[in-house]
Amino acid sequence: CFCELKGSINDCGCNVDTVDHFNNVKIYPRLQSLLVKNFFRYFQVNLQKECPFWKDDSKCAMRYCHVESCEEGDIPDGIRAASGDFPEESPNFKYKESSQSFPETNCLEDEDLIQELSYLNTTISSRAQEEFEKWQLYDEADENFCILDNSKDGAEYVDLLLNPERYTGYKGDSAHRIWKNIYLENCFDTDTVNLRSYLPPAVDLDQVCFEQRAFYRIISGLHSSINIHLCSKYLLDDSSSLLFGKEGGNWGHNVDEFRRRFGPEGTGGQGPQWLKNLYFIYLVELRALAKAAPYLEDEIFYTGETEEDDEVRMAVKELLSVVKSFPSHFNESLMFSSKLGAIKLKQDFREKFRNISRIMDCVGCDKCRLWGKVQTQGLGTALKILFSDKINRYTVPTKYVERQQFKLTRTEIVTLFNAFGRLSNSIRELENFREFIR
Ligand code: FAD
Repeated sequence: CFCELKGSINDCGCNVDTVDHFNNVKIYPRLQSLLVKNFFRYFQVNLQKECPFWKDDSKCAMRYCHVESCEEGDIPDGIRAASGDFPEESPNFKYKESSQSFPETNCLEDEDLIQELSYLNTTISSRAQEEFEKWQLYDEADENFCILDNSKDGAEYVDLLLNPERYTGYKGDSAHRIWKNIYLENCFDTDTVNLRSYLPPAVDLDQVCFEQRAFYRIISGLHSSINIHLCSKYLLDDSSSLLFGKEGGNWGHNVDEFRRRFGPEGTGGQGPQWLKNLYFIYLVELRALAKAAPYLEDEIFYTGETEEDDEVRMAVKELLSVVKSFPSHFNESLMFSSKLGAIKLKQDFREKFRNISRIMDCVGCDKCRLWGKVQTQGLGTALKILFSDKINRYTVPTKYVERQQFKLTRTEIVTLFNAFGRLSNSIRELENFREFIR
């Protein structure tokens, strides 16, 4: 029964109880106070992109699907100046090294020769620069596990605090099609996939390779987390919802809805396993934060509001020291470690996650699309951290140039922390549901 969910978390070396205690006491309260800060609450997103896979005009009509975007003036100057990501002139571009100095020459040169040389210099250096940028783009794209909304066209700022993830009423064929296609990205043989439960009954999870299992558990854990949120912030009573023209309504925990989604009865006994998958994805993202800690500790989280920026830096450092103290982190080195086909498998894995972030543009409810993007982009960032070789070079004392090779954009950092915040919140909510059900 889910109220007695305990025991080891499959494929990870720790127990449900350990994670519950660690999250609810140490992580959850710290994240709650961090995610309300300006750096983390404003997210730049394009909710108008067309679905690249199929034509679906079934937009959710409920007003709870609506997303309120921000006015220009609401966004702190520092965030607006950086316009989502960090251009070189933004203060968030760290480690700006003093320009390299060359030995000065005192010789008098022939004027023509100097001109010719300087022409050659600029051509060579601009060509080299072009090549370098091309490869840098290629390298960075190759590391990414998701497609980020990089283009500013159609992008708007959204205040995540004013648009909380909760019940929206998005359901039926459109929602099912999204979940079905997300699960079908997994490398299981699609002919055998049972579209009702999306778990191939003919395929035993213990029989498939660790990477495939991990993929399934990560997606299933994300699915659980989204559904736990809609059960814990459920629209219990709509009657006061248009009081004074403002969105009202009575929101709270819907225990029956939770029981239907995760109890053993309605789910063919799978509900408790789906909840364990939530713990699995939590441990994956926790490990990513621990691994990226040296990078994130150097980050300046610039919004232009000095006092708040100082507070954020201190709070992040404290959170990361707690994250690092977790005794049994997920061991990502077990993935893609077999010599046979490991590179191909990693490429496939990456491509499948990228497709999942593309599928988010097919979600027919703006609020769900917003939080779907936050969570899949955050997950993509976590995977980029876990499987990037460049971050290993960042963590050991190394040359400036090598440290510079690993980069996270503001969007990646904001989604990484918010996505982890959602998982942390879900685990905390499970504690509440256990209390209600006991
Ligand atoms: P679904 O959740 O649609 O699941 C379909 C089937 O998948 C189930 O019948 C079951 O067999 C299987 N399944 C269910 N859970 C799991 C699991 N954890 N692991 C493996 N298999 C599982 N609704 C909101 O109210 N608010 C939101 O913010 C919201 N965000 C969403 C974001 C995205 C990206 C998507 C795709 C949907 C979102 N939804 C949201 C809709 C919500 O997730 C459900 O799809 C909807 O409530 C219908 O639920 P359902 O009972 O039909 O089952």
